[in-house]
Parts: sequence; structure tokens; C-alpha cells
Amino acid sequence: MIRLRPHHLLCTQGYSGKGYSTDFVDNMNAVVHRLRHVPGEKIQLTFGPDSLCACCPHNTDGLCGTQDKVSRFDRKTVQYFGLKEGEYVYQELISAIDARMTPAMLADICEGCSWYAVSACRRNICGE
Ligand code: SF4
Ligand code: SF4
Repeated sequence: MIRLRPHHLLCTQGYSGKGYSTDFVDNMNAVVHRLRHVPGEKIQLTFGPDSLCACCPHNTDGLCGTQDKVSRFDRKTVQYFGLKEGEYVYQELISAIDARMTPAMLADICEGCSWYAVSACRRNICGE
């Protein structure tokens, strides 16, 4: 089962084929394809390294190269939406999140992310 850390519930919605390395992009393409196109695809929400970190060049033994930052992204996502670790249907979970997300909340969660200005996250998640 695909494992996702909390803030990757958001990044997977904005992703459009760009990433940190060829391996990372190949893996991200495969994961995102399943999440977007396989009806009822389930995920294991996990508060740590996940199926995307698994192929990331910034992952060293499960620790992210920008650990403080991504921990903050995760913590804020969990706090805003009352998330718990466990199994979810991805499409149902992101629908529930997106229904409540505001641009101000997303800007707060993603503060400091270099993809924020260039990716489709805000448009795809907030619809604007
Ligand atoms: S702006 Fe960055 S942290 Fe926020 S959803 Fe997009 S890629 Fe993820
Ligand atoms: S290791 Fe860090 S930068 Fe890489 S995918 Fe995981 S959280 Fe993102």
C-alpha cells in the first residue's frame, strides 16, 4: 500500500512532473498515477518517511535533508485537519481536506516550500 506523510496529501495534488532527480520523478509519477486514476486507492497515512521519500535524494536513513521544515509542513497539516495515522481512501481524504482548505491555510502550511510559487498546488487544492 502507498504510504504518505501528511503534507504529501497536498504535494501529490499539485505535482506536475517535476522533482529532485530522475528516480524521484519516476517513482512520484507511478505513485501519483495510482492515486489519481485508480478508484478507491488506499493509503497508509504515516507520520514519517513515506513512499515518496523512499526514492528521494534528500532522504538519508529516513531523515529528510530539511527535516525541520517538512516536520512543520506535516504538523500543520495534521493540526488543521485532525489527521491520525492509519488507512484512508486517498480520494475521500483529499476531498475532505480540499473542502475545508483556504488559501491562507495552505500558505501557512507550505511556508518556505520552493515549489509553492511554481507548482499547481494552490490552484488544484484551493481552486484558485
Ligand atoms: S507548496 Fe510545497 S509543501 Fe505545499 S503542497 Fe506544494 S509542493 Fe507540497
Ligand atoms: S525526503 Fe524530504 S524532500 Fe524528500 S520527499 Fe521526503 S519529505 Fe520531501
